[in-house]
Amino acid sequence: MIRSSYFRLRPECYFVKGVKRSAIYNLFAGDMFSLQPMETDILGRCEKNESVDAIIRSICVPSGRVLDFLQCIEKKKMGVFLEKPYYVEKYRDRNIFRHKSYRRNPPELKIGFISMAYQCTLNCWFCLMRDVSRRWGCFGCNIGPLREGTYLTTQEIVDTISQLHAMGCHTLVFRGGDVFIDIKKASAIIQRARQLGFENIFLVTHGIFNSDECFRLLYENEVHPIFQVFPPVKDIYEKITGVTNPLATILLSLGRLKKMGMPFSINLLSEYSIMREMKEAVEFYKALSPSSLLEDVLVSSYMEMQEDGQWDPVKKALLFDKKFAKVSASSFFDRWQFHPCLYGKISINIFGDVSPCPSLYNDVLGNVREKSLPEIFGEEKYQRYWEMSKEKILPCRSCEFRYACDECRGLEKWATGTLTEIKYCSYDLLEGTWTSMPRNRLNNKLEPER
Ligand code: SF4
Ligand code: SF4
Ligand code: SF4
Repeated sequence: MIRSSYFRLRPECYFVKGVKRSAIYNLFAGDMFSLQPMETDILGRCEKNESVDAIIRSICVPSGRVLDFLQCIEKKKMGVFLEKPYYVEKYRDRNIFRHKSYRRNPPELKIGFISMAYQCTLNCWFCLMRDVSRRWGCFGCNIGPLREGTYLTTQEIVDTISQLHAMGCHTLVFRGGDVFIDIKKASAIIQRARQLGFENIFLVTHGIFNSDECFRLLYENEVHPIFQVFPPVKDIYEKITGVTNPLATILLSLGRLKKMGMPFSINLLSEYSIMREMKEAVEFYKALSPSSLLEDVLVSSYMEMQEDGQWDPVKKALLFDKKFAKVSASSFFDRWQFHPCLYGKISINIFGDVSPCPSLYNDVLGNVREKSLPEIFGEEKYQRYWEMSKEKILPCRSCEFRYACDECRGLEKWATGTLTEIKYCSYDLLEGTWTSMPRNRLNNKLEPER
């Protein structure tokens, strides 16, 4: 029996339409539900205030199925039956049109990545290679790509972080190379960053600390180290890093930080040949109680299929095992306005080149030796990156998962050559299915309703 004639989603639940299917985002519960094409049609019409009666009369499914579906949404506390058409004012945690004004808002710098060293005590095989990228490049270390030039001096880096601080940036990530290879330089820069009052200071390291001073520097300046590690197997470590048994030293460093009660994070990096070791490696590092554990993976450009016709496991995972972030009001509206990761970030390499993030190192916006950061921002080249959003990426703009889906633009640009396409996703919007083959490029005529 139809209890009343209309059905609407609650203010905190958003109906996002894709090409064939759709999704409900429940911003308070943090869930996203993927809907079948028929369910998409029913709910889309409800959201346009069409009566349930009219929908049942015009649709080729039994009325019981329509009602079951709507009652299921009601039971999950995402929607209500109503006696008359109703305008639902949707919940928002901000004015999402603020950034669309004609007057430019000043840049809101959030994270500055600062490269402090170009040399390293390890010799990881992938470090300088252009035909190798990674899943999440920003919280790992690497030297490359190889280039000539003079390194920023201690004073130049101090000036740069002072400018970042003056522009409102509150988080710094120091990276290298081996940041501690010149301990005097590291010490001067880190202490200055602390004096300036940055809220968060992270430091990416391979974990080989050559002196007590490294530990003291981290401790006294409340620096949060991020360890880039590999599966904890001696042979694997030696094969990847080209150095005899670095693992023992790294484990000693981790143990010492734990004894000192210092928080740290783990960036566990794997590659094609060691994917099998990852499950155990994750458990091993989790047992050390890091503040966070990120699973990163190297992606090579030279292999899609193996000789036996099977997918390279790294590519397979990137293409077919898409995982969506837990939805929240802030993440949903962040993704509505911006790309999930690029907004508010800036990276400065050891030669002074400024780029939108460490992985987009070829997208140089300027050089701090030639112009100050406010001048570089004044040229507004950064806006191409900060104003990037899923709405500008083909085919994400037409996908119902676009407000829950994370991906690395650095990796995708490396793979596709453009900032606005995606390779590592096998979701077929036209069919509404996850395909067993990677996507063909779609044209941009597909516009979803919102
Ligand atoms: S530890 Fe980092 S910077 Fe050093 S060689 Fe390995 S990837 Fe490169
Ligand atoms: S990458 Fe794009 S097309 Fe693929 S699931 Fe995410 S939003 Fe959809
Ligand atoms: S594109 Fe985003 S996720 Fe990828 S490296 Fe840059 S900031 Fe990190």
